[in-house]
Amino acid sequence: MNQKVLILIKPDGLKKSLTGNILTRLSETKLEIVAAKMVRVSHELAAEHYKHLKDKPFFDELVRYLQGELHDRKKVMALIYWGKDAIQKCRGLAGATNPEEADPTSIRGSYGRITTKGLYENVIHVSSNPEEAEREIKLWFDPDEIIVDLYPAKEIEVPPAKKRVWA
Ligand code: UDP
Ligand code: MG
Repeated sequence: MNQKVLILIKPDGLKKSLTGNILTRLSETKLEIVAAKMVRVSHELAAEHYKHLKDKPFFDELVRYLQGELHDRKKVMALIYWGKDAIQKCRGLAGATNPEEADPTSIRGSYGRITTKGLYENVIHVSSNPEEAEREIKLWFDPDEIIVDLYPAKEIEVPPAKKRVWA
């Protein structure tokens, strides 16, 4: 079954210069990249992304982690992969959430670590099911940033607003 999946290269992955390596590993899946961008992550975006964990003791640290506060790099790389069994294939390559338990040949097993505060710095996020993928893709991307129509979209009139252009 064709699926879409949100991938984030988290701030530790960027700081460790793992972008090329992670994309090479993911290319083994033969899936198609249908969107990609660098994102500055606001507190609101990070908290919304991880809202299912808001009652966990590590939530505040997790939000700081995704915002790049722990790696002095306030950005993540967001991508959408599309194709057959995309979620299972990408989750398989990513490995288990806990980098110490992840298969050592997986992305998280190879490059993740647990901080002294107990947070799993596991270099990559991968949506874990189709419903989560839809919620996350709509949170991180607008329809026009994706080169295929993944979900129904509509056109709305936008009142004139200021925007930045090249000087
Ligand atoms: N996390 C953590 N400790 C835990 C569980 C999760 O630090 O006991 C962090 C970790 O960075 C993980 C993220 O919270 O990637 C989201 O957790 P989730 O359970 O959704 O795992 P994932 O889907 O990322 O494998
Ligand atoms: Mg998850």
